[in-house]
Amino acid sequence: MLAQVIVDIVHENVAHTFTYRVPEGLELSVGQRVEVPFGPRRKEGVVVGFSDTTDVPVEKLKSIIAPLEDYPAILPCLIDLAERMAENAHCPLAETLRLMLPAEMRGGRVQVKQQPIARLAIPKEDVDEAIFKQGRSQKRRQLLEILRDGIPHPVSELKMIVRDPLEALRQLQQAGLVDILQEEVLRRPGGGAETPPAPDPELTPSQKEVLGVMLPELHQGQGRFLLHGVTGSGKTEVFIRLVRETLRMGKAAMILVPEIALTPQMVDWFRRRFGAVAAVLHSRLSAGERFDEWRRIRRGEARVVIGARSAVFAPAENLGLIVVDEEHETTYLSDRHPRYDAREVARWRCDNEGATLLLASATPSILSFAMARRGDYTLLEMPNRVMNRPLPEVEIIDMRQELEQGNRSVFSGRLVAALKDCMRRGQQAMLLMNRRGYNAFISCRSCGHVMKCPNCDVSMTYHVSGGDGQLHCHYCGFAQAPPQTCPECSSKYIRYFGAGTQKVEEELRKLFPNVGIVRMDIDTTSGKDGHQKLLDEFRSGRARILVGTQMIAKGLDFPKVTLVGVVAADMTLNLPDYRARERTFQLLTQVAGRAGRGETPGQVIIQTYKPEDEVILASARQDYRVFFEQEFGKRRTGLYPPFTILARLLVESTSAKAAQEHAEHLMAECMRLLEENPAWKKRTLMIRLDQPSVTILRGKSRWHILMKLLVHPETEAFAAELTELAREENDQVETYFEYNPTTMM
Ligand code: ADP
Ligand code: ZN
Ligand code: ZN
Repeated sequence: MLAQVIVDIVHENVAHTFTYRVPEGLELSVGQRVEVPFGPRRKEGVVVGFSDTTDVPVEKLKSIIAPLEDYPAILPCLIDLAERMAENAHCPLAETLRLMLPAEMRGGRVQVKQQPIARLAIPKEDVDEAIFKQGRSQKRRQLLEILRDGIPHPVSELKMIVRDPLEALRQLQQAGLVDILQEEVLRRPGGGAETPPAPDPELTPSQKEVLGVMLPELHQGQGRFLLHGVTGSGKTEVFIRLVRETLRMGKAAMILVPEIALTPQMVDWFRRRFGAVAAVLHSRLSAGERFDEWRRIRRGEARVVIGARSAVFAPAENLGLIVVDEEHETTYLSDRHPRYDAREVARWRCDNEGATLLLASATPSILSFAMARRGDYTLLEMPNRVMNRPLPEVEIIDMRQELEQGNRSVFSGRLVAALKDCMRRGQQAMLLMNRRGYNAFISCRSCGHVMKCPNCDVSMTYHVSGGDGQLHCHYCGFAQAPPQTCPECSSKYIRYFGAGTQKVEEELRKLFPNVGIVRMDIDTTSGKDGHQKLLDEFRSGRARILVGTQMIAKGLDFPKVTLVGVVAADMTLNLPDYRARERTFQLLTQVAGRAGRGETPGQVIIQTYKPEDEVILASARQDYRVFFEQEFGKRRTGLYPPFTILARLLVESTSAKAAQEHAEHLMAECMRLLEENPAWKKRTLMIRLDQPSVTILRGKSRWHILMKLLVHPETEAFAAELTELAREENDQVETYFEYNPTTMM
């Protein structure tokens, strides 16, 4: 008996299966992990098949040393998936197989956790007599009393009832009255606390309609849906009903959420409805917790999986449903190697495993909505909020006028008045300030004019570190000196746009010294429960104003929030990115959706230097269709995705010289490839060597080769070659090939 094994080494020369002998008497299955001899070393591998014969003389074959687990860690359907992804990303199977396991499992870095438990070793009827015989020892009598129920009790639990029980337990064990065993325990994130079940609400007409369309398809194990439901339309309730039906059919369900900040709330929702069958997978779990949740899914104990991007690879058998909530979020894309789009992976799994796919959002991505229009998804809509709650009123404040009237603070008079009002009524407010790290654009505070690239229609930025004082376009490389006065209106108030959440918090504290304020951004939410603590602070009402970056905009449901303020809508609108308009629309719609989710209607105030902008106007009306039509047209004429592919080779090194040299070398290689392959050259609209606007990151100098490519099979072949090029690293440089990366900075 011979086994085909993929050895866990990522290298071109090893990118095929190796044949090993299966030792006599060893039962193995496909997907099982094994330890194998590899050259002089021992390596981990995955069994992907069996055979009776091979070209190599059998005597020359080595034997599998031992299985690493007594069950197949990778389900056959996930081996299929890994194979497909490897083909697609042009990388070795060993690399995509790694996605299918908790990272900690490789190299045996997490152990199964065990705890001692005590259990009665005699028939229950004999307990009275045994207790009688314990004489003076009260501890032993007490212990027998507890263990009388015949149920195994963890020793840790006994310790809480009987002081220092160990010696007494040992004596009982020696007397043959009690067994002490080692039992596996699964670490549960959140302590495994059960939340009380919540009753089902009566469904709204839209919820009924959507479920009416979806349930028959769910029963058939098919259907690809895009649900466009306005904020507060009750999408979560739809998910819950679908999940419940999936469980009733004996199948497993998966719900993907974009951010960990969202997960606790969603988990809470689902725990309340589904109890212990829900498992959570995300990167903030400890290694042990993640491993144990993974095993609960693998064993079929947890049949509802909730998690971030990589949870799409969870070992759920007999999958019936995948929901991708807030499907427009870029966190679903992994642009580094092996690159994947969790939505696409979800679709493959559904196709392959006979499951239903539901993508949902209040602001679907341009790509998904275009696919739905083309018929790839069935479009479902929930245009109203539950209980006929109105969408919040949105007011747009022209910050240019504020400046004219001498107000230089970050808050308009209107926003301050609304905040005061909100606080006086004992309600809560959320303020969004989207400060995105490094990039700074230049805008005129008198007329709102933004310095944009004449070639690309995206805003130009300062190079922050190691910059040359020039404004740059990082799509085409155009550069110019920042102007002293506004080219539109000659005002001298044209400058770097730079306030952040911290500044907003400071000003707020001055205005409202007695109000609890929490700030949520990348600096305040580090650590395992960082998000959770801050959100609890706000949810409990101890804090009444929540200030934060985009992370507060998404999915959170706080019924007491009646006011939402966007401090500077321009911050996102002027990001130097072709997706800036899409991001702004999403962000403004989502954040506006946070207001008025309870009984009291909500109010939204958007501050901007560009009140006439069509994206701002469309988001104020929460009119997705209008926005989509505008944006789709712009992408087509500007040749941006989904009509083209943007890609780059990124080089990083602690040595500036090495980074530049390697980038130049790669550029030369690219040019050679294009000369040799006219079919590729024809599909390459642009290729250019440049420094990204973040020229130094974490102490490393950076260079990139930017490309704009046509969507075409030849482009895929070119991309495969570029992937190979990116493997050409040395001690000094690291290279990445990124395909439609989420950022070009
Ligand atoms: P969305 O995700 O579409 O923005 P949610 O699912 O968060 O909206 O629902 C918004 C609010 O409406 C939640 O507080 C939820 O509990 C409530 N809700 C949802 N469905 C119903 C219903 N059928 N009846 C009453 N309340 C509902
Ligand atoms: Zn101006
Ligand atoms: Zn340009």
